[in-house]
Amino acid sequence: MTSNLLDYDLEGLAAFCEGLGEKRFRATQLFRWIHQKGATGFDQMTDLAKSLREKLPASAHIQSLKVVSRHDSADGTIKWLFDVGAGDVIETVFIPESDRGTLCISSQAGCAVGCRFCSTGHQGFSRNLTTAEIIGQLWFAEHFLRTHLGRDERVVSNVVMMGMGEPLQNYSQLLPALRVMLDDHAYGLSRRRVTVSTSGVVPMMDRLAQDCPVALAVSLHAPDDELRSNLVPLNRKYPIDDLLQACSRYQLAAPRDFITFEYCMLDGVNDQPEHAHQLVALMRKHSNEGLSCKFNLIPFNPFPASGLKRSGMPQVMAFAKILMDAGMVTTVRKTRGDDIDAACGQLAGDVQDRTGVQKRIASQRQGMLKGIKVVSKEVGV
Ligand code: SF4
Repeated sequence: MTSNLLDYDLEGLAAFCEGLGEKRFRATQLFRWIHQKGATGFDQMTDLAKSLREKLPASAHIQSLKVVSRHDSADGTIKWLFDVGAGDVIETVFIPESDRGTLCISSQAGCAVGCRFCSTGHQGFSRNLTTAEIIGQLWFAEHFLRTHLGRDERVVSNVVMMGMGEPLQNYSQLLPALRVMLDDHAYGLSRRRVTVSTSGVVPMMDRLAQDCPVALAVSLHAPDDELRSNLVPLNRKYPIDDLLQACSRYQLAAPRDFITFEYCMLDGVNDQPEHAHQLVALMRKHSNEGLSCKFNLIPFNPFPASGLKRSGMPQVMAFAKILMDAGMVTTVRKTRGDDIDAACGQLAGDVQDRTGVQKRIASQRQGMLKGIKVVSKEVGV
C-alpha cells in the first residue's frame, strides 16, 4: 500500500523523503506542488529529478476526497458533501465575503459530544477523519475554487474548524493538518486566520496552546453549569470555570488574541436578560485571569428532534445590548446558505442518519448554526 502524501505536514514529508533515500529539500518541492499547485500526478512535478518522479508512484500517491454532491447558494456559499467510505459523508462549506473567503472544515464523521442543538450531534459518532481527509477538504476547495472562479491567486483566506465533529477529540490528526494550513510552502495562512472551535476539551486546549496556538472559538451557549451541562454534555466533565481558566491559559500562548465565545440563541432556554447578566459577571470574574473575549450570538436553525426553538430577533438584540453595555464586543450573526441547507449536519443527515434510521431529513430543515460556519454578516449591532 502506498502512502497518501496529503497525510503529511512538511516535517512528515521530509521524513518520508529520507526514507526513500532522498534529500529533505525534496519534501519542500513536493509540498509546493501538492498544496500550492494542486498537483495529483508526479509527472507534473517538472523540477523534481526524473529518477525521483519515476520512483514515487511505487510508494506514494496524492488522493483527495470523493465528491458526493455540490450545492451552490444564491448568496455565493458553496457546500460539498464528501464520501469518506463505509456510508459516511462529511460536509465542507465555502463562505465568500467581500474581504475574505472562509472555508469551514469537518474533523470527524459525526460527533460524540451530542450537543442538544446540533444536528451532527444527533446523528452520532462514526469515526475520526485522517489528516489527509481534513487537509483534503482545503486542498479540494482551494483548487476547485481557483478554477471555478477563474483566479490564479489564493481563494481561501480563512479556515474555521467548525464543521462536523469536535476537532480536539481528533487531535493527532488535526495537528499536522493545522501545520499544513500555516506552512508557507503550502497554504501560508496566518495563525489568526485559522480557527479551531471546541466544545471545551480542556486538556487538549492546553496542548494546542503549546503546539499550534491558532485562533480559538469556544462553544459556550450557557452562563451556568446546570444549563450548559444540559446543552453541551461535555460540560459535566469540564465545567465552565475549568473551561474559562483553560481559555486564560490559552491566551498566554497567544497574548494579543481574544477568545471567541459562540452562543446559540435558544428561545426561552438561554436567551433571557438574566442569562446575559450572568455572562457579564462570569467574564468579569475571569478577566482577572487575563481572559479577553468576544461573543458571537448565533441564530438557531430548529429541527424537530431538538425540541428547541430559535430566539426572536428582539430577544437577541436585547441580549446583545446587555453584553455590549458591559463593554463586551458582541456580534449578532446571520445565516448564510439557507437555500442549500448549509447549516452543520443538514445535508449529511440527509444521506445517513446515524441513529440507525435511514430517512430524508433535509426537507425538515434539520441542523444548527454552528459558529461562523454558516454565518457571516453582522446585523445591526
Ligand atoms: S456542536 Fe460541535 S461538539 Fe457539539 S455535537 Fe455538534 S459538532 Fe459535536
